[in-house]
Amino acid sequence: MVNTEAYKNLKEELDQKGVTLVAVSKIKPVSDIQKLYDLGQRDFGENYVQELVEKQPQLPSDMRWHFIGHLQSNKVKYIAPFVHLIHGVDSQKLLKEINKQAVKLDRVIPVLLQVYIAREESKFGLDAAELEALLTAEETAGFRNIRIEGLMGMASFTSNTDAVRAEFNTLKGLAERWASHITENIQLKTLSFGMSGDYTIAIEEGSNMVRIGSLLFGARN
Ligand SMILES: *Cc1c(COP(=O)(O)O)cnc(C)c1O
Repeated sequence: MVNTEAYKNLKEELDQKGVTLVAVSKIKPVSDIQKLYDLGQRDFGENYVQELVEKQPQLPSDMRWHFIGHLQSNKVKYIAPFVHLIHGVDSQKLLKEINKQAVKLDRVIPVLLQVYIAREESKFGLDAAELEALLTAEETAGFRNIRIEGLMGMASFTSNTDAVRAEFNTLKGLAERWASHITENIQLKTLSFGMSGDYTIAIEEGSNMVRIGSLLFGARN
């Protein structure tokens, strides 16, 4: 069930603040996505390659598809032809594969680097040192068919709003630290953090792209 009222209110609020809304449509049917499209929404986020590849041809071609899940190198080729922005890049290996597929397609693929900010155990995301290594690597400079446009992160799943705020603040701090590191394929300007439960805090802490699912499409089973 699409909550059109929530969508309109949220869209108005985010537009005023200059924040991009990525509507996270994982597990939700194409008919729900079409409903938001008809209201003007264009940016949609999906987590699973196979699901995205199935949905994409069934929906209008001017959709901007964001890949927000954990991407395996061997699956990059399936989404490379049409993906608008890949959010969760957290290794040199993955960056290399995205560049390789982009070269084949003669296109540039924009990406965000995922930074690990939560206190919870997670396999995904770079720490500050790994981020530095990736941004300054000679190999990265040679990836002419990718563009590193910003950072992405996820806060801990907790009701402790101070902890969430502190985690987002860490991400913002890293973005500021690297903001002046501008090269041919690096310019960090997009900050993708904030979901249904914490987007207000995220925006207060400097997010300019939020990824929102359940608030718009209802809870997932
Ligand atoms: C599912 C998901 C979201 C959206 O979560 P909601 O709480 O439903 O808004 C955002 N980002 C990522 C990476 C997700 O996997």
